[in-house]
Formats: sequence, C-alpha cells, structure tokens
Amino acid sequence: MIDEARVALATEKLVHALGQSCREGLAETPARVARFWKEFLEYDPGKIDVTFESTSIDQMIAVTGLRVYSMCEHHLLPITCDVSIGYISVGRVLGLSKLARIAHKHAHKLQLQERMTQQIANEVSATTGVPDVAVLIEGVHMCMEMRGIKTAGKMITSEMRGKFRDPGRARMEFLQLIKGG
Ligand SMILES: [Zn+2]
Repeated sequence: MIDEARVALATEKLVHALGQSCREGLAETPARVARFWKEFLEYDPGKIDVTFESTSIDQMIAVTGLRVYSMCEHHLLPITCDVSIGYISVGRVLGLSKLARIAHKHAHKLQLQERMTQQIANEVSATTGVPDVAVLIEGVHMCMEMRGIKTAGKMITSEMRGKFRDPGRARMEFLQLIKGG
C-alpha cells in the first residue's frame, strides 16, 4: 500500500531541498507526484491467468512491440520497454491481451530490466504450463540518456528457455519475428 500523504510530504521536502522557491506552479506538485506513484505501483493488471484451448500444438505463439513503462530502481527514472514474448503452445494458449497484462504487471515496479525479463518469463511459463518461453526486452533508460554517459542507446535483455535456448528453429523464428517487427 502506498501512503499517499507521506509521499506528498516527502515530495514537498524534496522540492525544498532542491532549492526551489514556493511558487504557484509547485503548489500542487506534491499531491500530483503522490497520485502518480500510487497509480504506477498499485497498477492492477486484471485477470492474467485465463487460458483457452487451442488446436495449435507445438506451434510458436509470439507477440512483439508491447510498449510498457517501468522505473529503474537505482535512479527512480523511467525505462521505456518494448517487450517481445514467445512460447511453444501445448494446447492451451493465453490471449494476447494477457501477455500484455503480464508485461505491465512486472513493469509497474521499481525494477531492473534483467529481473523484469525473468519475471515475465516465469509468469508466462507458470500460466501456460509451458517450459519453452522466450522473452526479449529492448529498454531505453532515462538514467543512461539524461545522466552519466548521456547517450541514447537500447539495452537488450533476453531470457530463452527450453526449445528457445538452443540454436534451432524456435529461437531463429522468434528472433526473426522481432527483427521484422
Ligand atoms: Zn538507472
């Protein structure tokens, strides 16, 4: 649970500590910032464990270009994440919106991109009962672009499990899909 009042108070202190004068434009800032954190961290992904039966067995199901936003836990700065998820169906499949919900669920945290990639793979695997899961995230980190090295760049993390781990058809197909998408 987010203590909105305390977040607002802390934000007010932060604004003062940053040497900002009490001007009109900042009056509502602490409350707005508190509402943002509540909305971000208490995000409700809805139902994600609904699968349905499918005739596709041993077929790769993949979705690319899921855009979600996370927050780097080292700097509290945003990460724009383009998430691709693939898995080999064993007769039960997840709706596409469920994959998006799973990506959102793990983005709405103070995160590390590597951990988020693993958490999404864990959840897709647990929900579908499938060991063959691939997750790839292309992350643009504001903590890299706005501070430190101040350079635009993408960080790529991937989690390849089961049939996606070895060089073979599944892995090739998945990586080709991402390149094309
Ligand atoms: Zn960072």
